[in-house]
Amino acid sequence: MLKLKDVHTYYGNIHALKGISLEVIEGEVISLIGANGAGKSTTLMTTCGIVPAKKGSIEFKGQDITHMPSDEIVKLGICQVPEGRRIFPYLTVAENLDMGAFLRNDTDEIKKDMDYVYSLFPILAERRNQAGGTLSGGEQQMLAISRALMARPKVLLLDEPSLGLAPIIVKQIFRIIKKINEDQSTTIFIVEQNANLALKAAHRGYVMENGIITLTDTGANLMANEDVKKAYLGI
Ligand code: ATP
Repeated sequence: MLKLKDVHTYYGNIHALKGISLEVIEGEVISLIGANGAGKSTTLMTTCGIVPAKKGSIEFKGQDITHMPSDEIVKLGICQVPEGRRIFPYLTVAENLDMGAFLRNDTDEIKKDMDYVYSLFPILAERRNQAGGTLSGGEQQMLAISRALMARPKVLLLDEPSLGLAPIIVKQIFRIIKKINEDQSTTIFIVEQNANLALKAAHRGYVMENGIITLTDTGANLMANEDVKKAYLGI
């Protein structure tokens, strides 16, 4: 569904992605793990056209999107939940969700999707008239994921959904990420430092170090890999 081939990305002189290749198959949950500064966020931002690839190619469903503007990429169904959530703080929960659906005009289906995200995260239904900026960190992450779902993405890109959240909330969020994949067959591409949860949730995973992919396997095999255990799982 999504294919990155020998992608190179630079920030000025900094060579952040040094020729990465990876593939996301329709219906999968894929996790990309790695240490701080490995290039995980850059991989997502390059995929959705926010940071341009200098070399290599990115294909979505057979279409070359390497140099496509990011708004066009969103219209194709690739939707990112950025690191740090970035919801609209002065809009209510319901208004934030409406914003997620702004490219759609199928009112009945939008209403169904809103009910669906409220069923995933009942706390958001309770808080529907509350300003987004007054939600807790975990609730804001729930809202950010829900807002992205309102666009009915074909691929959901999640950048560090666990960042700054209590372990119990992180577990809940990962449970729901799996549920979204199962309920709607939404393809999910997660970038995470919490390797344990990210690999547990994933069909397949990639390990990234210093701008290159060093390992790929099923989530289960990566969790059993001695190098991964030592470097990322603290075992
Ligand atoms: P983290 O888990 O800490 O978010 P990451 O794996 O997502 O790290 P990136 O944020 O993709 O890593 O960063 C990859 C490299 O690119 C790092 O060396 C970082 O310092 C550099 N970098 C990222 N954003 C910029 C930027 N806007 N300008 C210059 N360098 C950047």
